[in-house]
Amino acid sequence: MSEPVEPAKRYLIRTFGCQMNEHDSERIAGLFEADGMTAATDVDDADVVVLNTCCIRENADNKLYGTLGHLKSVKDRRPGMEIVVSGCLAQKDQEGIRERAPYVDLVFGTHNVHQATELLHRSRAEGPLTEILAETVADDHELFPSAMPAHREHGHTAWVTIQIGCDNSCAFCIVPAVRGGEISRPFDRLVHEVADLAAAGVTEVTLLGQNVNSYGRDLTLAARQAGDDVRVRPLFADLLRAVGAVEGIRRVRYTSPHPKDLRPETIAAMAETAAVCEHLHLPVQSGSDRVLAAMHRGYTAERYLEKLAAARAEIVDLAVTTDIIVGFPGETDHDFEQTLALAAAAEYDSAYSFIYSPRAGTEAAELVDRYVPADVIAARFDRLKVVLERSALAKHRDRIGRVEEVVVEGPSRKDPSVLTGRTRQNKLVHFASAEPLRVGTFAEVEVTDAAPHFLRGRLLEVTASARHRTRIPVAAG
Ligand code: SF4
Repeated sequence: MSEPVEPAKRYLIRTFGCQMNEHDSERIAGLFEADGMTAATDVDDADVVVLNTCCIRENADNKLYGTLGHLKSVKDRRPGMEIVVSGCLAQKDQEGIRERAPYVDLVFGTHNVHQATELLHRSRAEGPLTEILAETVADDHELFPSAMPAHREHGHTAWVTIQIGCDNSCAFCIVPAVRGGEISRPFDRLVHEVADLAAAGVTEVTLLGQNVNSYGRDLTLAARQAGDDVRVRPLFADLLRAVGAVEGIRRVRYTSPHPKDLRPETIAAMAETAAVCEHLHLPVQSGSDRVLAAMHRGYTAERYLEKLAAARAEIVDLAVTTDIIVGFPGETDHDFEQTLALAAAAEYDSAYSFIYSPRAGTEAAELVDRYVPADVIAARFDRLKVVLERSALAKHRDRIGRVEEVVVEGPSRKDPSVLTGRTRQNKLVHFASAEPLRVGTFAEVEVTDAAPHFLRGRLLEVTASARHRTRIPVAAG
């Protein structure tokens, strides 16, 4: 008589935070699926629930512990359910997580993603486990999320991690502490990986890193130290050109660049490489030189605007977006007025504005005596929102009547009777289609209406079908 076959375990991953975290979640999903697990649709259906945390966003701790409290009640009903916490908060709080939530089965950090399955097996065999590597020790194949099996929601797009860590020291940011210094992935390996993705039908890649435009500086430095006659310099512009030249890749995006490292050769590569999208996300954070200096951002408002003007002069129809922090410790009314002035002058297509919230372990969090009162921050935030939305609406109205290339992303979340597509400038366009169009389809749409956060349009024609299979295994290059 044959042994009864145990049903495959089902996993659910909840991601809090940035694209790097979402990318890590895809890799964890890929590793779980390679281990025979299948995706669950909700917590009640899941044998393993992973909370992939972020300590960059506001209230990260509260959100994590609130969610863990809910999971505890599920686990009380179903003791076999396993709870895993990964990501930046795990890296930062380490044992503190299991001290506050002893029912958590496994905690692993940002440098352990490649071990997700192995650690889960160990926690089953050995009992609750916390495993946090202080820094990356694996070789390239294991080190970078892109070099591991991946499960992606949309098969036509892929994120490719080109670099991890950050060499900067922005006073508000915990990333250098939890992700370590910059390490760039080898150039040729990246290009091969993108070629493999294109062969599998991916048409759009987003190059990911904390400070993408310094990509490669460590590689050239290492080569020079090894005796090669090379100039120490970033290789990001070269990478944009090489990835943009891969056959089948029609759109290349990247996030995030640092304004101080935005070099003329990157602007030139964007302008001259047809596949690189006309979208620049350039986080300014503040318009006050005093605040920018306190943040250690390494540029002034004037220098930032000069770089923006240089990019707009060279890249035709460039959309520009940004991040702005309101209420950094010590921000005065005058500082804030300068942020409003910069936001108006920069004429952003859209912006993410954040209310400053302290992250334990950062320099800014120590400036307790300079915290700005919450009501003052809230009023400033509302004033900034008005300026940003006015600018976004003006930019979007300028596009009415234009024909835009969009890639279909699926039914609109708010109105499933229409489709949503994304333009090269990263704008969402909602439009009706008599035929169902597969995610990843390229189409031409005439823009008919505009709002601050989206466009509406009329489908003119489908220009290319989606090429990807539904599920794409990502192989290391
Ligand atoms: S550049 Fe600054 S904000 Fe960005 S990851 Fe590095 S330290 Fe954080």
